[in-house]
Amino acid sequence: MRIAGIDITVDWSLLIIFLLIVWGLAAGVFPQWHPAWPPMTAWLTAIAAAVLFFASVLAHELSHSLVARAYGIRVRRIMLYIFGGMAQIEHEPGRWGAELWMAIVGPITSIAIGFLCLSLGVAGITHVNVTRITSLEHALVALDPARTLLLWLGQINLMLAIFNLIPAFPLDGGRVLRAILWGATHDLRRATRWASALGQAFAGLLIGTGIVMVLGFSVPILGGGLINGMWLAFIGWYLNNAARMSYRQLLTQQILQDVPVSQLMLTHFEVVPPQLPLETLIDGYMLRSDQRAYPVIGEEERLLGVVFQRDVERLTPAQRRTMTVREAMRPPGQITVAQPTETVLKVLDVLAQRDISQVPVLENGRIVGLVRRADILRWLALHAGPDGAKPARS
Ligand SMILES: [Zn+2]
Repeated sequence: MRIAGIDITVDWSLLIIFLLIVWGLAAGVFPQWHPAWPPMTAWLTAIAAAVLFFASVLAHELSHSLVARAYGIRVRRIMLYIFGGMAQIEHEPGRWGAELWMAIVGPITSIAIGFLCLSLGVAGITHVNVTRITSLEHALVALDPARTLLLWLGQINLMLAIFNLIPAFPLDGGRVLRAILWGATHDLRRATRWASALGQAFAGLLIGTGIVMVLGFSVPILGGGLINGMWLAFIGWYLNNAARMSYRQLLTQQILQDVPVSQLMLTHFEVVPPQLPLETLIDGYMLRSDQRAYPVIGEEERLLGVVFQRDVERLTPAQRRTMTVREAMRPPGQITVAQPTETVLKVLDVLAQRDISQVPVLENGRIVGLVRRADILRWLALHAGPDGAKPARS
């Protein structure tokens, strides 16, 4: 599915939370609010409510994506999954103002949807005989399925906004906090470290509260219960991972954006001539080294193509016996290449996007090196501190 040019994918794990919502509403909430409803009404209303809930989660993520795009950041896709929604953007914003707007627009969207649903839910309710309503329960009983659905959807969207506004990175509120700290200190790394620490502290609180609930204690507002407690601890665990990973990722990016390809590219590697029999390449080179891509070099060291081990593996034994390197190689037009002056961060992005493990480095059409994913990891291991925190400048 595509909306506004953005791919929308639904992960199977969404089904779990979808069924939990439908079941919780149809078997728990609605029978309490409306004892007189036939089961069919309760179930159909519950299914409609769950569908509309995920539509509002999608609207929340779409708002993040559209603001990101307005700032020139490409959005890869929006994924709906067990923890709600996630917009996968090409890279993080480069300015704190962009980060602030991208983060805050999600909760604003949820609040807007929440208030819209609530006001639609109570609109025109004046015709109900007010004198007969003696308590809130009476008021709820009088609501038809559509109004019930709107009121539930309204409050759940407001809750979604409030949860997302908690200043725990990488929740939206944590991103807002990071943007403000970033603007105040002009130091993205320090801002991220603080926001991530707060995120981890909040995640720890969720896990602790969840465990207390699992042990049978009741907690103010949240209540108690095994399922609720486990769910809370699960969200906490997920948030903790996300907070830690976001910080590490930022460190890696900051280190690699200053390193040119020429500094870590492999300069000792085998190249082969086009007329070489493929069998010789396999027996004489591929079986004797861990190099997985062989540049094919013509006159004046011009790159004619690259033979990839992945491609050779797909050939039949007969093809391997009879083909030459020229027949097995991919021409330059089909190969992703890098420049020696490019940043390693850019190459790493390309490797991840195309799902490839190496790129040849070209200078004026001549091959000068090879960058492999493993070389980048090795460089990080040797240049960053044990915790990835203090890159040594070389
Ligand atoms: Zn959000």
